[in-house]
Amino acid sequence: GVVTRFAPSPTGFLHIGGARTALFNWLYARRHGGKYLLRIEDTDRARSTEPAIAAIFDGLGWLGLEGDEPPVFQFARSERHAQVAHQLLERGAAYRCYLTPEDLATRRAAAQAERRTFRIDSEWRDADASSWPSDRPFVVRIKAPRDGETTIADEVQGTVTVANAELDDFVLLRSDGTPTYMLAVVVDDHDMGVTHVIRGDDHLNNAFRQLAIIHAMGWPEPVYAHVPMILGGDGAKLSKRHGAVGVDAYRDEMGLMPEAVFNYLLRLGWGHGDREEISRDEAVALFDLSGVGRSPSRFDMKKLLNLNGHYIREADDARLAELVAPRIGPDVDRALLTAAMPQLKLRAKDLVELAAGARFLFTQRPLQLDEKAAALLTDDARGLLANISDRLKTQNDWTLAALEANLKAYAEEVGLGLGKLAQPLRAALTGTTTSPGIFDVLVLLGRDEALARIDAQAR
Ligand code: GLU
Repeated sequence: GVVTRFAPSPTGFLHIGGARTALFNWLYARRHGGKYLLRIEDTDRARSTEPAIAAIFDGLGWLGLEGDEPPVFQFARSERHAQVAHQLLERGAAYRCYLTPEDLATRRAAAQAERRTFRIDSEWRDADASSWPSDRPFVVRIKAPRDGETTIADEVQGTVTVANAELDDFVLLRSDGTPTYMLAVVVDDHDMGVTHVIRGDDHLNNAFRQLAIIHAMGWPEPVYAHVPMILGGDGAKLSKRHGAVGVDAYRDEMGLMPEAVFNYLLRLGWGHGDREEISRDEAVALFDLSGVGRSPSRFDMKKLLNLNGHYIREADDARLAELVAPRIGPDVDRALLTAAMPQLKLRAKDLVELAAGARFLFTQRPLQLDEKAAALLTDDARGLLANISDRLKTQNDWTLAALEANLKAYAEEVGLGLGKLAQPLRAALTGTTTSPGIFDVLVLLGRDEALARIDAQAR
């Protein structure tokens, strides 16, 4: 069956490009009833950190892209990687190279002076094992093929061919015996039974080197799919400058829903006609590598926010209340928040806005008025509030319909549009100039609290 993997290097946060790679691997495995595995490529000991590993699991968990099995940690498998290098030595597919870094620097400089492209033509490549010194440091190099060419039938990039003369005898084991990244990836993919390698196209060149190891070991070739990278809206490589790039910031700072990010990442580089809104289940049913485009995709924050607004409106009200409550304050009444959600969520594109729109429900008197609200409350407006207060005090039926009928009648009586009436009312009730519909606000606050807030501003 199909086995895919996501293999992040834990040297920073889980960025949006990595999350998309994970998503494509997850979807491909689900679509084909296969397995999706995780591998933490932590061999760069100086740059790999525990917080980065935690951030990767956190971000994947949020998007529902956890691996189907416990993750594999690459560094812990160093001995197994070295074992494969030794097998390659035994087969004569690799050799001990005793050239020192100084030797290589001298040769590189000479090639440059003569304007030749440098290639490692190590005299140790064909030396007999019996002539290997036992008392000098060496690296283990692959005997890369020199004739012919290597072709990859990439599921995204198409057929890509490289002349083998361009491959050099790259290092498998360093002089301290530690395996290189190139070796580790191949051994791990093989041992994990990976059948499909779906990753960023910055790894396409590596694939040719990795195939040299795979062929030398006589292992089956995986299917490759090298996915184009994600660019910022301006066409430059996606970076901090384009806003948040870590998945955690999309959740925490921007207040996005995981299903919106899931949907957006899917659409970023993969298409199914012009469908924008695609659920998780639909994505599993529809995803294929032939739908992945060859050109880089551009990140479009507006599209992402539009999708997010859609998923907020679709979301269950109690769940939204749970997500929004901590953004408002401690011990926020979930029942009240849930009851207000059908009105609140009509306007919000993200959870930050949703929290801002809900805050009035939990503010204490005396209300802090924002600048615009304060400007609205002129002497005339305060007089109007006094009249409204008198009128509402005689009203016992505190329902949407009754309040609406009452205030509409009053607006007509005094010859004002309903909007003119609603403006100061909204300012007094919420301290702001944006909120759900004014009758909803009255109902949600309840009779006593609503009247107290109006009276506090009336004159
Ligand atoms: N660890 C590599 C990266 O984060 C991915 C290697 C691979 O997918 O083969 O770029």
